[in-house]
Amino acid sequence: ADDLSPSAQIEYDKLLGGLLIEGFDERSCRSRYQFARYHRNAARVPSAYLIERLRRQEALQKKCGPGTKSYNKALKQLSSGQSINTTDCNYLFLIIHAGLGNRMLEITSAFLYALLTDRILLVDRYKEIADIFCEPFPETSWLISSDFPLNYDEFTQSSPESYGNMLREKVIGGNTYRSLVGARPPFVYLYLDGNYGFHDKLFYCEDDQQFLKGVPWLIMRTDMYFVPSLFLIPSYQDELSRLFPEKDTVFHHLARYLFHPTNDIWYSVTAYYKAYLAKADKRVGVQIRIYETKGILQRNGPFPHILEQILSCAQNEKLLPEIGATAEAAAVTAGKNQTIAVLTTSLSSWYSDQIRKRYSEHQTVDGTTVKVYQPSHEEYQKSKNKKHNMKALAEIYLLSMTDVLITSGFSTFGYAAQGLAGKTPWILFRSTNHVAPDPACGRGMSIEPCFHNAPFYDCKAKRDNVDLGKVVPYVRRCEDVSWGLKIV
Ligand code: GDP
Repeated sequence: ADDLSPSAQIEYDKLLGGLLIEGFDERSCRSRYQFARYHRNAARVPSAYLIERLRRQEALQKKCGPGTKSYNKALKQLSSGQSINTTDCNYLFLIIHAGLGNRMLEITSAFLYALLTDRILLVDRYKEIADIFCEPFPETSWLISSDFPLNYDEFTQSSPESYGNMLREKVIGGNTYRSLVGARPPFVYLYLDGNYGFHDKLFYCEDDQQFLKGVPWLIMRTDMYFVPSLFLIPSYQDELSRLFPEKDTVFHHLARYLFHPTNDIWYSVTAYYKAYLAKADKRVGVQIRIYETKGILQRNGPFPHILEQILSCAQNEKLLPEIGATAEAAAVTAGKNQTIAVLTTSLSSWYSDQIRKRYSEHQTVDGTTVKVYQPSHEEYQKSKNKKHNMKALAEIYLLSMTDVLITSGFSTFGYAAQGLAGKTPWILFRSTNHVAPDPACGRGMSIEPCFHNAPFYDCKAKRDNVDLGKVVPYVRRCEDVSWGLKIV
């Protein structure tokens, strides 16, 4: 894109290399066309084929979405409960739950799956999705209609409609549904949460994908980024390579395509950025997510070993300057007049208070000024609270606007920020028994999220516990979760 004229370059950036299209009302969703102003790296360019497929998907979403003739017909058939054939309009309905980072990963995974299987993606309308994200598809809605006939909130792992249970009970498989053309259930419920069982995981096998092709409605529940396993299903591999010649950009492009924070959130993001981050010479994001506990009262610590872990990661990796022993010693080597703005995010305010204190009470060895900012400290997770989720999303976007990212291993909150940013993070490894690990952190292998609880079943050999992180060079075990898979 280097040879574009300046005005064409602005256009190119605003539409994120063609991911987005013109024509949405700018005022009702400012973030859509302003995102590029705050995320200047155009290093990762979406493929022409991805853009073409997005346009095709948009047309499909419009043709079959809520309110259309096809949609009403499909709903009717779904309520009738009878076996039906697939038509031009087949659906993937995603049940939404869990924290915001997880939600962004599950929506992105479901969207890619919908794209690969020519389905319309619809999402749960009752989980304040509309309060936090603008509509991604033009002239239609991705929210399921309120007259959707199934009581999906009551679906659980043990629901008889789940794919895993149908396989286990042999309702499908063998020579029943599978071989009878036309005799497929009107819908299948896919239970893909982290605690799923052996039969649920067969979703990731080729034969099962062939079977599911004939089911008009898929109702999916997941809290994970399952994209790495899609790269291991033979019939999707060619298409995925065409869509993503750079394999580690799946979340990066799709998240930038799908997610546009609503105006209130976007306003708080940009106002905070302008007030505290814009003028600094460098911005360092530190995402602090703590999974250790010390009784119920100390959910987020304070844990001094985690504070030390953060500081040694930042200083050893030269992301933040060291602190001088004395003011005089510092003065000798001083000279840099730089300012670094540190944006921390955490449920607790203690860590940022401590880091701020260190840097305000001592000089840095190179004379750099370090300022520390944290937008909120919510103390504990309240994923059903609208205001709380709005703050969380604002912070994910603020993190994504920094130049350097330190994230907490295991956390999908950090994955979402690094993916939007397109920045490979330094990952703080998880501490155990209140001892910080050594080394404190390590560089991520890629900008992709990790699929926690990936299946390790070799569908062809019918063997479980196979290391699927060694089958193709671009799917590896994660740095932070040994039983997870990620695209590199
Ligand atoms: P994960 O649990 O770390 O994988 O991330 P999720 O985003 O899925 O769930 C954690 C939830 O806790 C977030 O969505 C927020 O609601 C809350 N939370 C965790 N860390 C932070 C933080 O740094 N800032 C804010 N505002 N909320 C946080």
